[in-house]
Amino acid sequence: MQRRDFLRGAGTTLAAASTGMLAGCVRPLERPGAIMASPPLRMGSGMPELAPIRAQVDRITGVYVCTRPFRAAGPRIETERLGDKTLVHNYGHGGSGWSLSWGSSALALELARATGARRLGVIGCGALGLTSALLAQRAGLPVRIYARQLPPDVYSMRASGLWTPDSRICEASHADALATRWEAMTRTSFAMYQSLLGLPGRPVEWIDGYALSDTPPGQSLPEPTDEPEYGELYDRVRDLTPHSVMLPPGSHPFPQPYVRHYTTLMFNITAYARMLMADFLAAGGSIEVREFHRPGDLLSLPERTLINATGYGARALFGDDSVIPIRGQTARLIPQPEVTYGLNMHHLGVVPRSDGLLVQVTGDTGNFNNPDTTPDRAASEAAVRQLAGLMAQVRRG
Ligand SMILES: Cc1cc2nc3c(=O)[nH]c(=O)nc-3n(C[C@H](O)[C@H](O)[C@H](O)COP(=O)(O)OP(=O)(O)OC[C@H]3O[C@@H](n4cnc5c(N)ncnc54)[C@H](O)[C@@H]3O)c2cc1C
Repeated sequence: MQRRDFLRGAGTTLAAASTGMLAGCVRPLERPGAIMASPPLRMGSGMPELAPIRAQVDRITGVYVCTRPFRAAGPRIETERLGDKTLVHNYGHGGSGWSLSWGSSALALELARATGARRLGVIGCGALGLTSALLAQRAGLPVRIYARQLPPDVYSMRASGLWTPDSRICEASHADALATRWEAMTRTSFAMYQSLLGLPGRPVEWIDGYALSDTPPGQSLPEPTDEPEYGELYDRVRDLTPHSVMLPPGSHPFPQPYVRHYTTLMFNITAYARMLMADFLAAGGSIEVREFHRPGDLLSLPERTLINATGYGARALFGDDSVIPIRGQTARLIPQPEVTYGLNMHHLGVVPRSDGLLVQVTGDTGNFNNPDTTPDRAASEAAVRQLAGLMAQVRRG
């Protein structure tokens, strides 16, 4: 996730009060001067008690890169005929694939069911393939997934894991055309996520976070210069998530003068994907590991209706050049269950996932239309050192 995504992720929330204070967030503040009457997490000392993050490069357990499947017009959810098959496309969700998955897959399934299908093939086993398959099962259809890779090897497993439904979802010029559909997808997904709270392994949970800035609210820092202007749609669903609030000086332990507290949904992706896989198999689903090289390869499948959830893979498989790779890199530190808060600051984001504290460089350039998935460990180590610098300045006790 890039800096901008953190802004969204912090987002949803930050979005809400919309965080002009945050680096790169271009939205105006909804309530520029909003100050909490009583800050959250007050301890005897008057400071939120935040467990220190052990930000050491020798605690990095992995550096992961993947490409967001971005389309200027937004996700492709439509039907196409292929020989005697009906193919329902469900790909191109940019930086919002997990967030929109249930809603997008519900739309795709509606199209699939309109064919009168009695059984379904799903191509792909990432966020979109799994949710398409599960929804189809719940509608009573036997489903087989065909995919080149399965979790944990799919790109979806490398996402940040935040509720970011309008992160790099379309270009600004397409936002109006996408808005109604996007809102429907977002609301459907959000409702589904509320039904996945409180489960063993905490696949989905709400977290608190802090957006830290040296820049006053309303003054945005520059976005990466080599990316287009993206559609910003979150205003349409502001009612879904708590609004973020500025913390008064002295009420927080951070060195930065401007600190905003936010609350957002987080996906513990390892536990969540395992749960989706287990649910699919328990409901009688089957999986065939298989790679398709051209659309014609799909003609040999027994199912007459197929949902195509191949993500960035759709570019090569269907020759769809409208899918643009936007590279993103994250690093994970050894988990610290006591760290339950997220952070979001200039060029850095932290997500307190249970499968590893995720550290991400944000706001960097060179990612748009970049299919290179080679990890840049030095960049992640620099981010961890930046985090260590912050931790050394956080007031305690
Ligand atoms: C750094 C980063 C951070 C992100 N953070 C977030 C976030 O916080 N929240 C959020 O909502 N989204 C986030 N995203 C976006 C999200 O990860 C994607 O939108 C999502 O993973 C797309 O899922 P998918 O199922 O379409 O694709 P994938 O996960 O890529 O799955 C595609 C499936 O299709 C199969 N496939 C592809 N081609 C073929 C073929 N030719 N033959 C057979 N099988 C094939 C693959 O093997 C795989 O099983 C992030 C992305 C990045 C890069």
